[in-house]
Amino acid sequence: MLRGEYVIVPENESSPSVDVLLVNTCGFIGDAKEESIQAVLSAAERKKAGEVGKLMVFGCLSQRYMSQLPDLIPEVDCWFGARDLTPVAKALGVVPPAQTGRYRTDSHAYAYLKISEGCDRRCAYCAIPFIRGPHRSVPMEILVKEAETLAASGVKELILIAQDTTYYGLDLYHRRALAELIRKLSAVDGIEWIRIHYSYPADFPEDVLDEMACNPKVCKYLDIPLQHISDKVLSMMHRQVDGAWTRELVRKLRERIPGVVLRTTMIVGHPGEGKRDFEELLDFVREARFERLGAFMYSEEEGTFGADNYRDRISKNEKRRRLEELMQVQREISLSFNQSRISTTERVLVDDFNDGVFVCRSSSESPDVDGEILVRYKPELFGGKTPEEICGKFLEVKITAADEYDLIASPSKR
Ligand code: SF4
Repeated sequence: MLRGEYVIVPENESSPSVDVLLVNTCGFIGDAKEESIQAVLSAAERKKAGEVGKLMVFGCLSQRYMSQLPDLIPEVDCWFGARDLTPVAKALGVVPPAQTGRYRTDSHAYAYLKISEGCDRRCAYCAIPFIRGPHRSVPMEILVKEAETLAASGVKELILIAQDTTYYGLDLYHRRALAELIRKLSAVDGIEWIRIHYSYPADFPEDVLDEMACNPKVCKYLDIPLQHISDKVLSMMHRQVDGAWTRELVRKLRERIPGVVLRTTMIVGHPGEGKRDFEELLDFVREARFERLGAFMYSEEEGTFGADNYRDRISKNEKRRRLEELMQVQREISLSFNQSRISTTERVLVDDFNDGVFVCRSSSESPDVDGEILVRYKPELFGGKTPEEICGKFLEVKITAADEYDLIASPSKR
């Protein structure tokens, strides 16, 4: 596809040589930084081998370490910060994205809609506020317009993202306006699912609960990073909630939105997390039975309150042990949730077709972070339709088998 004077080559399309290789980086915790450095180093190898003309790096990692990285990886021609899209476009000699609208590099029936940027909170462990800056909401009319354009291109599911989606509107409209935004987005023709990610638990807006309960376009799925349950650890994290408040929020979500699928993340090995705090976390995860849970090991990030004020005394081995123990508890919960769906009929969106199998998701799964529902293609089961006719559409399927991540299904005969 032509963009300015360039042809954009998808990452998975192996191309022996390119004029410009752009690497987007992440830099908020240790593992993400390592992964980003590896990506830049392998791009540098490609440049040394003559496969790459110019190598450019942008994103959070390059913004954070702009003064050190150029000396460490001299093969990189230009470094840009996280919000330097216009300078990147200028360096490429193409029209800046603000003037051309959004360019999609895939043809999925889902799209991420970034409703705000930056964060005004100050979690003790987190470097994002000083990488991404203060919270700024995108005006509703721009988001609705973007949703209309996406819907016109075949998008059926909008995934709302931000550093904290529940904060939406406080800067622009002086009120929390996520529920109002959702109502406007759900009026867009063609949009059938709206999914909420990254919702901060403190002051969770009641009207968003109502919208999730009553609006048929809002997936009964919520990504709500809770990070811990121990009062001591939550307080040291500066999370503005305690354990009792967190338990009550989970109870309320389950009561007000029957069947809601909750995704959360936890941090293990945060300063102050003693053995008893960790046991409390395990007990909470057993009792709350989050359908989806991801966990990170605490990583001390320079410039954060935690790095300046706490001693990171828990060894990496112990953090890893806690992470594994927590994920073992979660694996059993995820398996039991997935198995409880066997023999049920679910509406799924078909994301992809690989090796004779459709890769689908129900409203209970978000792309990339959750499992998939796999449906084998046999023309006679799909009324003779081709895979191209089925991709990007909704299907009714019956779940036939499940493991802790993925599910197997066949087209429903109803
Ligand atoms: S709310 Fe999220 S992005 Fe903001 S400081 Fe806390 S962890 Fe970081």
